[in-house]
Amino acid sequence: MEVLIVEDEPEIAKLIRQTLEKENFSCSTAANGLKALKIFQQQQPDVIILDLMLPGLDGLEVCTRIRQQAYTKDPYILMLTARGEEIDRVIGLSTGADDYLVKPFSPRELVARVRALLRRSLRHGGQNSQVYQTKHFTLDLDQHTATRQLDSKSSETLDLTTLEFNLLATFLSYPNRVWSRTQLIDKLWGNDFFGDERVVDTHIRRLRKKIEPDAANPTFIKTVVGVGYKFED
Ligand code: CA
Repeated sequence: MEVLIVEDEPEIAKLIRQTLEKENFSCSTAANGLKALKIFQQQQPDVIILDLMLPGLDGLEVCTRIRQQAYTKDPYILMLTARGEEIDRVIGLSTGADDYLVKPFSPRELVARVRALLRRSLRHGGQNSQVYQTKHFTLDLDQHTATRQLDSKSSETLDLTTLEFNLLATFLSYPNRVWSRTQLIDKLWGNDFFGDERVVDTHIRRLRKKIEPDAANPTFIKTVVGVGYKFED
């Protein structure tokens, strides 16, 4: 497992590196955001430990730029924040971080968090797997099939357009992550999109009609007011 550590304080970077190397992770480090983006493109790490306060590009900006790259492997991002950065922390999660850790933290806690992120990836079949599975949904990316479990005995095949399928796949690839409309557009249309980002709402509405027991009171695709959407199952 490849981990990229983005931290401008050398002592902390060193501590994180030693801790993770002891657990057999292979680590690279970057002391600023631009360097982090460069290493990210070259090495495609599985996990990025990303300090929020960085010189130049800060952690949020780095996070956003990584998430906007539609066709690279999506790493897990663990954001490091200092105490009292409560609001920044929330923004961090909506920019696409998967988890956060407040400084100072113990090496043991760090390892536990990284392992938890990777377990999550295994449970969903691993990031390179072609099947996404949650409690009620199974998406096979190779076969392009989507099924929903109705109860313990029966399931139904969902009749989705390619766009709806890709939208659901994006949600299932990271359950519980909050996505902004811009992030969803980047995932679905890449850089070719010109138009009103509210188009996302239209597709969400259609998808809800197909997958939610009650589209007016969605249980799977939740609206996050002021930010966008997230998938829960
Ligand atoms: Ca810092």
